[in-house]
Amino acid sequence: MSKRVAVVTGANKGIGLAIVKGLCKAGFIGDILLTARNEKLGQDAVAGLKSEGCKNVIFHQLDICDQGSSLKLKKFLEEKYGGLDVLINNAGMAFKNSATEPFGEQAEVTMRTNFWGTLWVCHALLPILRPNARVVNVSSFVSKKSLDQCSPELQAKFRNKDLSEEELCLLMGEFVQAAQAGDHTAQGWPNTAYGTTKIGVTVLSRIQAKVLTETRPGDGILLNACCPGWVRTDMAGPNATKSPEEGAETPVYLATLPEGVKEPHGQLVWDKTVQEW
Ligand code: NDP
Repeated sequence: MSKRVAVVTGANKGIGLAIVKGLCKAGFIGDILLTARNEKLGQDAVAGLKSEGCKNVIFHQLDICDQGSSLKLKKFLEEKYGGLDVLINNAGMAFKNSATEPFGEQAEVTMRTNFWGTLWVCHALLPILRPNARVVNVSSFVSKKSLDQCSPELQAKFRNKDLSEEELCLLMGEFVQAAQAGDHTAQGWPNTAYGTTKIGVTVLSRIQAKVLTETRPGDGILLNACCPGWVRTDMAGPNATKSPEEGAETPVYLATLPEGVKEPHGQLVWDKTVQEW
């Protein structure tokens, strides 16, 4: 049998780094690929974890905004492992509240990383998932808060269980266009770029889970979105309530759901608890 392998994106620091450490401490059997877009930062993170006893951590470069980079990783996984067992889409970004870039630019840049980047990684790697694989898309509780701020029409679309990936992509594109035109709130969108991109990640997860259920019934694959909580990282700052290790708990829990377990699947999970969408 091929060696098991897990991939964590954006893992050179913050919650991603803590997830790699958490997987290792949880006794993940196989290799854990700590991926980062910056090779030096990634290699330094791996060296740090190895010195803490995480021997099965390996670096691989991955810029989620570069489709070629995802495809290179796919090729590496196929050649070295023959598939993928755990994928944690953690990489993400947010503009600071003090950012001076126009809202339309913030919307475009944030969408490119958080939604399109995550989607491209999934397009490359979901086809090579092995039976009983686990996929975790790190979204946010802000996605739920932002959903509640959408117009009733948009809320209905984002809650519609039959929404397709293509329709979701069109909606994310419409938000960016409206943001650039300066009339996103008039069109029923919330006034948050980050929150809207995370609506995209949560809804994408619901769609991906449904497609997996339909296309690979009986393979036991579970895919969920999660919120790590409010975590002290470069993104959220020092006043947040959780340490990165605490923030990693729910993603690691979802990534290590034992074989044979049937749920959660296609849910938004926070503090190891399924949230209503
Ligand atoms: P950090 O800013 O500390 O870390 C973000 C990570 O994502 C970094 O490793 C960063 O790499 C990486 N990244 C950004 N863009 C790319 C890219 N194009 N390709 C590859 N990697 C990339 O943030 P957190 O650790 O706080 O956030 C991790 C995830 O958790 C995000 O998805 C975030 O939205 C989510 N989240 C965080 C919360 C919090 O309170 N902190 C709350 C809810 C959700 P680099 O160092 O090169 O920039």
